[in-house]
Amino acid sequence: MKLNGTMRVNEKGHLEIGGCDSLDLAREFGTPLYVLDEMCFRESCRDYYHSFTQSYGAEVIYAGKTLLNLAVCRMVEEEGLGLDVVSGGELFTALKAGFPAERIYFHGNNKSYAELAMALEAEVGFFMVDNLCELELLNSLAEKAGKKATVILRVTPGIEAHTHSYIRTGQIDSKFGLVIENGQAMAAVKRALELKKIDFKGLHCHIGSQIFELESYSHTVEVMMAFANKVFEETGCHVKVLDLGGGLGVYYVEGDQPRPVKDYAAVTMKAVLEKAAEYNFPAPKIIVEPGRSISGPAGTTLYTVGAIKDIPGIRKYLAVDGGMGDNPRLALYQARYEACLAGKVKQQPSELVSVAGKCCESGDMLIWDIELPSAETGDILAVSCTGAYNYSMAMNYNRLPRPAMVLVRGGGAELITRRESYEDLVSHDLIPERLR
Ligand SMILES: *Cc1c(COP(=O)(O)O)cnc(C)c1O
Repeated sequence: MKLNGTMRVNEKGHLEIGGCDSLDLAREFGTPLYVLDEMCFRESCRDYYHSFTQSYGAEVIYAGKTLLNLAVCRMVEEEGLGLDVVSGGELFTALKAGFPAERIYFHGNNKSYAELAMALEAEVGFFMVDNLCELELLNSLAEKAGKKATVILRVTPGIEAHTHSYIRTGQIDSKFGLVIENGQAMAAVKRALELKKIDFKGLHCHIGSQIFELESYSHTVEVMMAFANKVFEETGCHVKVLDLGGGLGVYYVEGDQPRPVKDYAAVTMKAVLEKAAEYNFPAPKIIVEPGRSISGPAGTTLYTVGAIKDIPGIRKYLAVDGGMGDNPRLALYQARYEACLAGKVKQQPSELVSVAGKCCESGDMLIWDIELPSAETGDILAVSCTGAYNYSMAMNYNRLPRPAMVLVRGGGAELITRRESYEDLVSHDLIPERLR
């Protein structure tokens, strides 16, 4: 297993994160347990802030959908980043944490009336408008509220990136954004410019996730800057803000080769400046929205190994006390992970096993085929790079309470999300009179 952030192997041969022995963490807080490495999270924020903001004056906004709770909001705020939220719930979390509203960007392809009203009331910095329905609704709600909404329109540039490849799809079939190719994006820009309570500021796109190919970003810039030029030609309006989304890839398993953030910034900004010079208009303010590359490597999940089932000649299963409930990514999209036995890190791998969860689904697996030292019931298994899209996607299937999260740093561990209790699970249930 690759050691992320402050991870190291201590004198006892145990995995240590943020100066805390992971076996002690498991004992003190129970398992499954999400462990968030504060310095790793903050270092990634700083890397982005330095590479984009200090070097080029670009804005970095953290994609909250990857991992969000009150403490995470506080760290993001302290590190000087903005925050991308996609729902009333995420917005509420940010506001509750005291995150400055003007640094909040409100995303989502189907924001409700109530969510838009809530965001107007809170005076969030930007509405990332996905479609015409939303544009009209936002305008009328802003009118009612006596406010003006600052808007960035989400468009689809027809580039789709996945890991090591990207394709120019001219893809029109997406639930997100307004299509450039068929004229819908331009029509929306023109409508935004007409609407009295909409302050049109610029364009947004997001081409995919877990991207290693930096060229997919420079090509996206080319498409977006060409469209920005067309907007200027047809409307006389400059695109002042260009948001290029997130998507930078991280290391999960062997073969993944993440690109340095500073290279990502250099490639992107070079393309922006070149195109601005070519079209002879002022370079727009650039925004990037990293999620996984900030939260992913900072998270590790600790599990306790329970039942071990060897099917001779077929497969050996290690079942752990969590699974798809706290990490649905393998079930959702065959995601791959590395892991180690946290108390046996110095031992050589000796057997090929698969790690199963405890849910009533055959698809409830965490890892297919991994070499580990000989495991026994009671061992602690650490799965790395679970910071993104784990806690935020967790669910209560089989009425499993969702795990706790601890923030570790310098040998100290603090609970930042309590473990759900059985009482929590029934706390929203009601029994009608006639069933009592
Ligand atoms: C998911 C998403 C992000 C973050 O993507 P990562 O791959 O986690 O960096 C940023 N912007 C938008 C619009 C997204 O949907």
